[in-house]
Amino acid sequence: MQQSENNSIENIRHSLAHILASAVLKKFPKAKLGIGPAIDTGFYYDFELPRQLSQDELPEIEKLMREEIRQHLEFKGEEITAAGAKKLFKSQPFKLDLIKEFAKDKKKLTSYQNGEFIDLCRGGHVENTSEINPNAFKLTKIAGAYWRGNEKNPQLTRIYGAAFKTKEELENYLDQTKKAEESDHRVLAEQLGYFMMDEDIGKGLPLWLPKGFMVRKILEDYMFDLERNLGYQHVLTPHIAKEAIYKKSGHLAHYKEDMFPPLKLDKENYYLKPMNCPHHHVIYKRGKKSYRELPLRIAEFGTVYRHERSGVLSGLIRARYFTQNDAHIYVDASHLEKELVDILALHKKVYQELEIEDYWYRLSLPDFSKKEKFGDIKNKEMWDAGENALRAALAKNKLEFVEGVGEASFYGPKIDIQIKDNFGREDTIATIQVDFYSAAKFDLSYIDADGKEKPVIVIHRAILGSFDRFFAFLLEKTAGKLPFWLAPVQIMILTINERVTAYAKHVEDTLREMSIRFETDYRNETIGKKIRDAEMQKVPYIFVIGEKEADALKVSVRERGKGDIGQKSLEEFFRMAK
Ligand SMILES: [Zn+2]
Ligand SMILES: [Zn+2]
Repeated sequence: MQQSENNSIENIRHSLAHILASAVLKKFPKAKLGIGPAIDTGFYYDFELPRQLSQDELPEIEKLMREEIRQHLEFKGEEITAAGAKKLFKSQPFKLDLIKEFAKDKKKLTSYQNGEFIDLCRGGHVENTSEINPNAFKLTKIAGAYWRGNEKNPQLTRIYGAAFKTKEELENYLDQTKKAEESDHRVLAEQLGYFMMDEDIGKGLPLWLPKGFMVRKILEDYMFDLERNLGYQHVLTPHIAKEAIYKKSGHLAHYKEDMFPPLKLDKENYYLKPMNCPHHHVIYKRGKKSYRELPLRIAEFGTVYRHERSGVLSGLIRARYFTQNDAHIYVDASHLEKELVDILALHKKVYQELEIEDYWYRLSLPDFSKKEKFGDIKNKEMWDAGENALRAALAKNKLEFVEGVGEASFYGPKIDIQIKDNFGREDTIATIQVDFYSAAKFDLSYIDADGKEKPVIVIHRAILGSFDRFFAFLLEKTAGKLPFWLAPVQIMILTINERVTAYAKHVEDTLREMSIRFETDYRNETIGKKIRDAEMQKVPYIFVIGEKEADALKVSVRERGKGDIGQKSLEEFFRMAK
């Protein structure tokens, strides 16, 4: 194999994109070519094809690619003029589009040729296809992609490939993605019947099914009890509000693109709420507040609506409506730090109890050089005070954190709780924000001990973020194996034959008395099949009841992940499950 400094993995991946295009042109001589870059784990290329391509056809294209690789073709680069390029790509409208743009920017054009295939390209290839391991790449999937990412342009077919230097690396990667795909919350939710989507209801609008709703209700009840004990007061506010309040809040100026279009009613515009803050501020303003009433904690499981673009929708992670575990805490400066300490402590407690470990804190600060986002900041001392309070609260809870300069919101510094999902993507799951701006915008004040009216500080916090996203995250982290207290079905009762049904009904009664969530399978099927079906549902425990168990007034217990753990009386079982 010829070695050169050109055989970096990026160059290999990029070269494979050319080879893919060349192979596709052999199969579909009339295909129109989009672009084909290298990406993190491989490459892709966009095509306009004369017909829909199916996943089953990818091996055939792979085979054409391997044949080309084995011909040891050279990659030959050449500088060309815009006029020359236009002639060369006269039957490729998307390339002509690019040439026009490059010519406008007076960029140099280069073309690269491998075999008979010529592409417009900046370069970054292997010198010869002999440098590519023909067994270390695989075409993985087909997706739709708009030309230049714009919904108004034609939709092209994107073919993705994975590529590495060795076969082992490729196999490792394919293994990992397979595992991650199996624990994708959309796949699990489908398999376990947690939520569904329906075209007639609309994109990004999940319908929660009984089992999914049960898990969510348990999470909501759990947070409700915790928050009530900590002095939060829960409210319920409408899903819509008039235009004027979103003018006041700045949402229509800064956030309109992410909101649903207005509804017209009695000649006025109403908007679906994208956030709960304005509604809570209105509740705060009901009657003058004294410093003695602070901190005032208003909480809501508040459903919000956001116009996510259809291309980014992804199950419950990116949906067009979701319910936040929201609260706004109104404090004076003297209570700010203490309140933040308490919020962080609550956070830690909840995450501990939910067995979430791989998360970290990011202190998100302003970047004053970014004028468009932070240019309006006049009162730097207030920002510093907020930052100091957040730092002190992190220190008091002995929490380590990273700093994210430029990650603050436009109204104040914040702490973001960051996680990594199964695909290794970093995401913010919850936020604690200190807000000095809403007081002025909404005229939020209190009467201090000295009798003077002062602006109040607002803390925005959402411990679980949104219940929807959090649920998705939990499902993926546990691969659907929710802990006993959260499982929608905690126990599945299976009978071996109908002679034991009466005893099984007695077991049901006991579980019902103890508020255990259970389901039964008394079908006329083999016990092996019933066990397999129950295991597919990932229930924590399965009770198997045959005549031996009925005679002994016991059940045979199977534990998720462990299998048979022996016969137990219900008392013994509950002592153990505790
Ligand atoms: Zn290239
Ligand atoms: Zn808020």
